[in-house]
Amino acid sequence: MVQAEAVIDLDAIRANTAYLAERAATRSAATMAVVKADGYGHGAVPSARAALAGGATWLGVSTVGEALELRAAGIDSPLLSWLNAPGTDFTAAVVSDVDLGVPSIPLLDDVVASAKRADRTARVHLKVDTGLGRSGATPADWPDLLTAAAKATAEGTVEVVGVWSHFACADEPGHPSIAAQIGVFHEALEVADRHGVHPQLRHMANSAGTLTLPEAYFDLVRPGVSIYGLSPNPGHVPAEALRPAMTLRGRVLIAKRVPAGHGVSYGHTYHTSAPTTLAVVPLGYGDGVPRHASSVGPLLLGGVRRRIAGRVCMDQFVVDVGDDPVSDGDEAVLFGPGDRGEPTADDWAEAVGTINYEIVTRIGARVPRTYVGAGA
Ligand SMILES: *Cc1c(COP(=O)(O)O)cnc(C)c1O
Repeated sequence: MVQAEAVIDLDAIRANTAYLAERAATRSAATMAVVKADGYGHGAVPSARAALAGGATWLGVSTVGEALELRAAGIDSPLLSWLNAPGTDFTAAVVSDVDLGVPSIPLLDDVVASAKRADRTARVHLKVDTGLGRSGATPADWPDLLTAAAKATAEGTVEVVGVWSHFACADEPGHPSIAAQIGVFHEALEVADRHGVHPQLRHMANSAGTLTLPEAYFDLVRPGVSIYGLSPNPGHVPAEALRPAMTLRGRVLIAKRVPAGHGVSYGHTYHTSAPTTLAVVPLGYGDGVPRHASSVGPLLLGGVRRRIAGRVCMDQFVVDVGDDPVSDGDEAVLFGPGDRGEPTADDWAEAVGTINYEIVTRIGARVPRTYVGAGA
């Protein structure tokens, strides 16, 4: 083991995807594995390959840059990129068979211009805002977007492959907005039909939808965080069948005895209460360990669950291990699947007041990813 690493279990990603894809298949829906933000920190390309091996047939990313990175790695599955600013040049994406999410007429215009440059038909998925209040055409703007898309279709510059939307509160089962959004989506599909827009793929469900809302599977589901083995809302959205894929660990740089009353780390926000051993772990906020974890971040060290002592620094933090026999080079596990007694990403999220998504996604580029399992 190197001094710090994120170990990624590709078998877990494959098995998690297989579980989700089997659920989707009960309603004849296909599965798009979402690998944006470098596969939620797990590595986009290896995660994508593991998800495809598990039965996903589509991949989803935010930007065309992310999409082209997958294509450059030789991944040729259907691929959707949905978050691009107006003015983006989509020529390379169109040439590389990247489907494009389109929420507005200005973006459709950019796609049409790019399709003309590429001398190809661009494949688009029109996005309707059914209530999230984020991207997508509002129901009021939807007819105009459909009219523009139908015109571009007639000219041969675009093909409307999909119509899609995104939930606001699917991770809160029973939330009234869920049924309301599904209802608005059905209406938007009817409006599309009346405008002569007949998508092959209607899609709406994220991880929470895939785990709890078969009525929202439509033709395709788009799970992200669950592919990596995490629940979108621990305790509320069942994820027992999933296995967390990332383990974050580091080696103790130095373990040393200090006297009682010794200040620890910047600001001396922690003082030793007795003669004790301090262990320094080489992971800090420069690696994505939140500074909010100062004095609260959990870890497993020397077989015992402990907390960080004092401030998390850019490159390291300190643990007070008392009189336990911890030595230079020992392994400290910040989080993992939890079955060796280590904390989980959920524990970290709770300790620092965020969500598991942010814990894994922010693990920085300086931390090497070590891949284990088939395909590693
Ligand atoms: C990120 C994202 C997803 C996946 O969401 P999870 O909650 O991680 O499953 C699906 N669809 C869109 C549009 C997204 O941005």
